[in-house]
Amino acid sequence: MTQMNYTARPKQTRVAIIANGKYQSKRVASKIFSALKHDRNFYLSKENPDIIISIGGDGMLLSAFHMYEKALDRVRFVGIHTGHLGFYTDYRDFEVDTFLKNLRADQGEKISYPLLRMTVTMADGRVVTARALNEASLRRLEKTMVADVSINGTFLERFRGDGITVSTPTGSTAYNKSIGGAVLHPTVEAFQMTEIASLNNRVYRTLGSSAIIPKGEKVTIEPKRVGSYSVSFDNKSYNYRNVAKMEFSLDDKKISFLSTPHHTGFWERVKDAFIGEVEV
Ligand code: NAD
Repeated sequence: MTQMNYTARPKQTRVAIIANGKYQSKRVASKIFSALKHDRNFYLSKENPDIIISIGGDGMLLSAFHMYEKALDRVRFVGIHTGHLGFYTDYRDFEVDTFLKNLRADQGEKISYPLLRMTVTMADGRVVTARALNEASLRRLEKTMVADVSINGTFLERFRGDGITVSTPTGSTAYNKSIGGAVLHPTVEAFQMTEIASLNNRVYRTLGSSAIIPKGEKVTIEPKRVGSYSVSFDNKSYNYRNVAKMEFSLDDKKISFLSTPHHTGFWERVKDAFIGEVEV
């Protein structure tokens, strides 16, 4: 469900400006910095911010999310894109004045989207947990991945292929879409499991389509071969030997964005990113 909640606006809003290394991003960052540094309603600080302004692209927003994921109860994000309109970015670089006007009029409105929680259990009992904003994947590096897939304790299939990706609704338009997953509206409280190059023939069988799993349910993947596995989430990737189990569910926390009159509709973004203007 869409959450249009309100947080009491503190007297002075603490704002962090995070930009990637591009010249254009640095220029936008310095323009916003100059505009806010003498405004007594705002306090510019990377420590304990209420609002995080991410300048760059979707990748920059993913990095900003992981920088501040421990403060999800408090922070709201807003993205300014220095390229094309992104999925996590509401403003383009030439719209900084509109952004500043909306920021000054902000009353604490937010819009929140689901996140993914993943838990990796190694054969020696070690456990690694992480949150993802886009997706998390498990791949076997040298050979075909053979893994048992269960949903909520029900054994579904023995998977053979390159790997499996599990994505959030906002992540459905990222890697998930490239591997044939469905586009899911970000307000749907569900996540999606999508196969990466599964083997399907007379001998081996997998579901073959992506599956949408509701909040409260859990996907478990148990690799059946000893070997080296890549565990990735968003823009991070780690190699582990002997993964025993990987579990996915929706996280109990959500990511919140500033909800301004400028917030671009999801289907508009989908059209802009994947279809463009076509003659009908
Ligand atoms: P990156 O930051 O260069 O991003 C790669 C592309 O994915 C960019 O065009 C970015 O705008 C787009 N993207 C990111 N999140 C998106 C979203 N939620 N919806 C639509 N597009 C989105 O690459 P990176 O730092 O290596 O990884 C960041 C993300 O990029 C990953 O989480 C993954 O989803 C995505 N990615 C996609 C592919 C692919 O589609 N084949 C390959 C690599 C990475």
